[in-house]
Amino acid sequence: MAKNSKIEWTTHTFNPWWGCLKVSPACKHCYAESWAKRTGHDIWGVNAERRFFGDKHWSEPLKWNADAAGAEIRPRVFCASMADVFEDRRDLDTARDRLWSLIEGTPNLDWLLLTKRPEMVSALAPWKEKWPENVWLGTTVENQTWADERLPKLAEIPAAVRFISAEPLLGPLDLGNWISTIDWVITGGESGPKARPSSPSWFRDLMNQCMAADVSFHFKQWGDWAPGQGISLAKVRSALAEDGTTMLRLGKKVAGRTLDGTIWDGLPRARTA
Ligand code: SF4
Repeated sequence: MAKNSKIEWTTHTFNPWWGCLKVSPACKHCYAESWAKRTGHDIWGVNAERRFFGDKHWSEPLKWNADAAGAEIRPRVFCASMADVFEDRRDLDTARDRLWSLIEGTPNLDWLLLTKRPEMVSALAPWKEKWPENVWLGTTVENQTWADERLPKLAEIPAAVRFISAEPLLGPLDLGNWISTIDWVITGGESGPKARPSSPSWFRDLMNQCMAADVSFHFKQWGDWAPGQGISLAKVRSALAEDGTTMLRLGKKVAGRTLDGTIWDGLPRARTA
């Protein structure tokens, strides 16, 4: 949990627990798992226990909610950066129920629930036809296979805002007609020691699909690899992206988040004010 998160598209992060199980290629270099290991917690996989938190941790969003009363811009809470809220395990049910109550009790915060398990949402969320106004539901689509698998599941849920996180983007995406069911697209490349370079054309193509369908587009980051035009190749590692672009391993900070000269900071229109 962190106030004032460093993630560009959210204000705070909140984790109802830590720990998870890998489910798809986007999980391969899971940052949360590495971070948990580095801080001494062996909490990934089927057999590992998860890490739970006490009342002090759970009271933080209540403070954010109080601070946000009457605010012009509603704070966004990303939930969860160290877990998947819809992981199907009975030992998570108590914390999950506490999370639903917390969300309902903090109407000044918009809660961004991002999952790689949209097929579990109907069974595990308490809301059926009417979802709270302050819940945005998102799913990760890292390539076409997972877009085809997860987008129909996301579209079934009547959340106030539906979004996708195409990060790390591992292949070209054609969102087809599903784009009409989405309010917001976040995308970006991978960072970390084993980061896989994304092709710039994949991002460009996704941006064009969003523009054509009037869907908000947010380019979060290049990740560790960025297109190399104009930079001396001698100093850094290079690799060819799948679309033939020479990519340079510049590191996340230097690589930045400009796509074709523009910072794409789109937010879903329904909730920008
Ligand atoms: S679903 Fe998220 S938290 Fe869980 S293993 Fe995959 S990337 Fe990590």
